[in-house]
Amino acid sequence: MEEKSRKTRHSRRQFLKKGLVAGAGLAAGGVLISQVVDATDTASGEKVKVMTTNGEIMEVDRSFLKLPRVSRQEAQQGIPGKKFVMVIDLAKCKNARACVDACQKAHHLPKSQEFMKVYLLQDSDKTYPYWFPKPCFHCDNPLCVSVCPVGATYKRSDGIVLVDNERCIGCKFCMTGCPYSARVFAWKHYHEYDADQLPYSPEASSPGKEGTVSKCDFCPDMVRVGKVPYCVSACPMGVIYYGDIDEDTVTNGTETYQFSQLIKDRAGYRYLETLGTRPSVYYLPPVDRQYPVGLGFSGHPDEIKDRYKQTPYHIKNNP
Ligand code: SF4
Repeated sequence: MEEKSRKTRHSRRQFLKKGLVAGAGLAAGGVLISQVVDATDTASGEKVKVMTTNGEIMEVDRSFLKLPRVSRQEAQQGIPGKKFVMVIDLAKCKNARACVDACQKAHHLPKSQEFMKVYLLQDSDKTYPYWFPKPCFHCDNPLCVSVCPVGATYKRSDGIVLVDNERCIGCKFCMTGCPYSARVFAWKHYHEYDADQLPYSPEASSPGKEGTVSKCDFCPDMVRVGKVPYCVSACPMGVIYYGDIDEDTVTNGTETYQFSQLIKDRAGYRYLETLGTRPSVYYLPPVDRQYPVGLGFSGHPDEIKDRYKQTPYHIKNNP
């Protein structure tokens, strides 16, 4: 069945022409910096610390800091002509957690705040458990948006649901409204860089603000510059695909598929669709697994392994 999707997939060259590419240049960093820094000005000699998109801290001259290219109005409207979608292949996930780490680093989140969470799910006693990465689903009917009393969270024309942390009052109604527990509260925000020197943009979710709610943002700042989200480019197994539903194309950076055919061939589904939320994230069922589920316990610190100790799988295998 998968073969059919492969035959219908777009070539990488075709996809690159469409402008959305894998974050191969991520290691070089500087994408965020290139949006806010203009090194052609005369240096003032006063240095400030800023964060690159790969989470590195670097010093730049204060006079090089510029306003972001994206206005507040643009950040509210979304990228014209786009409708973003994500596909997560559960058959390939082995809880490597590279997606979580890349996301946390890029958004400068403390360990206690995860935009991407990985659960160990088991559908019944008779079926085998599987690893389940869960970002915000960027629902087309987002219950979180409808309950916000101050309009701090909103749905854009490109499908992305964002939070404006300068508007958020931290009431947590949206956390209660989301049936997927996608949102996190920033009790404390740690940053090693001069966050107040960077112009705030709801598109970057960074610098974060204490006492407000935030969540996975589908990385619109990366998409604006033609790159896929951090979680997509970081995954060594190519589990996560991202793309434009109107172009009917998704990529994990190395493989590119026709979205509709992939969902049809692999019986793609949306999590708890019956809630009427219409998520923008699709899952491919964990059939023909590429890795044993137990592999997902190895190589992680105890604080991560402990999270799964109460799962039936762990209890059964560690009597
Ligand atoms: Fe809102 Fe939750 Fe849907 Fe994300 S998953 S859009 S936070 S309701």
